[in-house]
Amino acid sequence: MYREISPETVEFFDFMQENELFDVLGRKNKRAGGFMTFFQDYRAPFIFANFNGTSSDVDVITHECGHAFQGYITRNEELLEHNDLTMETAEIHSMSMEYFTYRWMDKFFGNRKEDYLTMHLEDSAQFLPYGCMVDEFQHIVYSEPDLTPKERKDVWKKLEMQYRPLLDYDNDPFFSAGGWWQKQGHIFYAPFYYIDYVLASVCAMQFKIAMDRDYKDAWERYLKFCKLSVSDFYIPELKAAGLDSPFEDGCIKHIVEEMEKKV
Ligand SMILES: [Zn+2]
Repeated sequence: MYREISPETVEFFDFMQENELFDVLGRKNKRAGGFMTFFQDYRAPFIFANFNGTSSDVDVITHECGHAFQGYITRNEELLEHNDLTMETAEIHSMSMEYFTYRWMDKFFGNRKEDYLTMHLEDSAQFLPYGCMVDEFQHIVYSEPDLTPKERKDVWKKLEMQYRPLLDYDNDPFFSAGGWWQKQGHIFYAPFYYIDYVLASVCAMQFKIAMDRDYKDAWERYLKFCKLSVSDFYIPELKAAGLDSPFEDGCIKHIVEEMEKKV
């Protein structure tokens, strides 16, 4: 797959393999999850995962390879601060890579490729309202610190009816009463961070639309965006890659219209 995407990904993947920069296979006692990190002294990205034989192994590897590819392509950047990425930018690198690998998914899923792609796209679409909801919930609970536990659950429940009206908890007493927010760890350990995923996802979707029209042009713009790291502010960087800002009116509407054509 990475041999066919572009000359840069060939170089990237060879580098990763030759230097044994993947630790992704499952082992007893290995921690769960997946991440990419960067070894500055070696100017090398590193990918950790714990494969369990499900389709999420593919999600993890394409996602983390997006982060790692960006790290690789900018590994010789002299100003370290230019690679001090924040998530609304970094997650564009990773989420877009998930889309850039779509056309090779038969290598993983055979004749169930389309099933995987449908699931992936539905998950991505559903995430936008959910991510916004997590953000709005935090705005409310921080501006009203005296809410009781029950009132906080009521806030979540009301937001769920607005953002996820088709959700059915099958009468589970805890979740039906607005308890789901306690499952969302970011609310506890990274306040107001969650919306960054939504901003990034909206931009990655624009790359998806672009690659369906002209894969090579979309890739070139993605490469340019990766090379920018965070050497400039968010909006000018988006513009440089030909992306609309998620803050602009009409941005989401346009994406929905384009994505619906695919359904
Ligand atoms: Zn990521």
